[in-house]
Amino acid sequence: MRCDVKDEGLMGSIDAKQVEVAPMALALAEARAAAERGEVPVGAVIVRDGQVLASAGNRTLELKDPTAHAETLAIRIACEAIQSERLIDCDLYVTLEPCPMCAAAISFARIRRLYFAASDPKGGAVENGVRLYGSPSCHHAPEVYGGLSEREAAELLRDFFRERR
Ligand SMILES: [Zn+2]
Repeated sequence: MRCDVKDEGLMGSIDAKQVEVAPMALALAEARAAAERGEVPVGAVIVRDGQVLASAGNRTLELKDPTAHAETLAIRIACEAIQSERLIDCDLYVTLEPCPMCAAAISFARIRRLYFAASDPKGGAVENGVRLYGSPSCHHAPEVYGGLSEREAAELLRDFFRERR
C-alpha cells in the first residue's frame, strides 16, 4: 500500500481523512515523508471513533524546534481539531517508542491507547529508560501496545541513519 504523500506544511501533509489505510500504515507514510524532508523518520497518527484527527511527521529541523516531534505535532493538530486540551477516547499510533517528552505529552493529553512500532532502547521512555507510565508521578497512563509494523518502522530508521553516515 502506498499513500500519495504531499508536503503542504504542518497542517495536513497527507489528507488523512481521505486515505483508507490502517492508522499505523498512515504513520509509516508520515515517517517516510519526514525522511524525504531530511528529518528523522518518525510519524504519528491520532484516531477517534475510527476517524483520523491528525497525522504528522517529525519537523524539528524545519521548524527549528526541538519539541516538534511527530507525537507532539499530532497532539496539537488533534486538540485544535476537537477544540479541547484533552484527547479523551483518542488513540495514538507512532512508528517509534515515544521519548520522555512525548510520553509525558501523551499522558497529559489523556490519550486512551498508545500503539507504537519500533522500540527505542536508547531514547524510548515507555518500555525503556524511565518507563514513565510506571512512575508514581504519572497520573494517566494509556494502554500500551508495542510491536505493530515493527520491522518496517525499524528498517526506515536504519536506512535513514545508514545514509547519513
Ligand atoms: Zn518525542
